[in-house]
Amino acid sequence: MDFAFERARHDRAGNLRGSDELWRTPDTRVLVLGGEHVATIDGPALRWVPVDEAPDGEWILLGDQNGTRHAAVAVQRVPRELNPVSVRVLAPLLDPDELSLAIHAVGLARWLQSHTYCSRCGEYLYSAQAGHLRVCPSCGTEHYPRTDPAVIMLVTDADDRALLARNPNWPEGRFSTLAGFVEPGETLEDAVRREVAEEVGVQVERASYLGSQPWPFPQSLMLGFNAVAETTELVLDPKEIAEARWFNREELLAAVESEQVVLPPPKVSISRWLVEQWYGGELPGAW
Ligand SMILES: [Zn+2]
Repeated sequence: MDFAFERARHDRAGNLRGSDELWRTPDTRVLVLGGEHVATIDGPALRWVPVDEAPDGEWILLGDQNGTRHAAVAVQRVPRELNPVSVRVLAPLLDPDELSLAIHAVGLARWLQSHTYCSRCGEYLYSAQAGHLRVCPSCGTEHYPRTDPAVIMLVTDADDRALLARNPNWPEGRFSTLAGFVEPGETLEDAVRREVAEEVGVQVERASYLGSQPWPFPQSLMLGFNAVAETTELVLDPKEIAEARWFNREELLAAVESEQVVLPPPKVSISRWLVEQWYGGELPGAW
């Protein structure tokens, strides 16, 4: 059960962020991106260009990987000849090392491109710390990139069955674990209990943290839990959940083999990883 986000795959080289001269050097490889679209080559893989071939834009230091320095430049629109593709589409197809760089770059680029004015005084902001900070030249406020915590949980019951659900916007057969954003003033464990109760009417007591996945669409950090249900009756919130079912391992295997249930893609989806952790191995099929 490979999971691309199990460990860091590039050194963010935070000590170099203070001076562009330290990292915008001739041997630095540059990723051109705009919003969630990145330059690619067939494979698919990321397309890297030398610093002197990169277009004007907002510069970001990504860091070092396998002895090579990597940066990104965020532009309004990636030129068509650079074959722009959304990282949302690309993620399951990318090599995990490149995915790590792409997710870092997209997270920062989207933040830089949507935070151009000071929220205190309205002045145009400039970028500092190699794209990891915005500073207001008028009132001096420092603006840091935001990460929004979301909980994602595999709910299991006393018989060790797992609960999977389908969002009303998804096609028939597409199932995943439950998930939701953490509210201000709320602990992660309380967010797990609240979301499960709201979405499927199940009471959860214990919630154990298992791992996390960054997902910059727009700026989430998905925190993965196993939640143990005290009740099993399902009362669905139709705005959030079209269908939900308890599965034992044999039932889930039969359902994915017959494609009655299709799970999120392996390696990049914490939802899939949580399901396979419970199942005890890899399952077939994917969105
Ligand atoms: Zn300001």
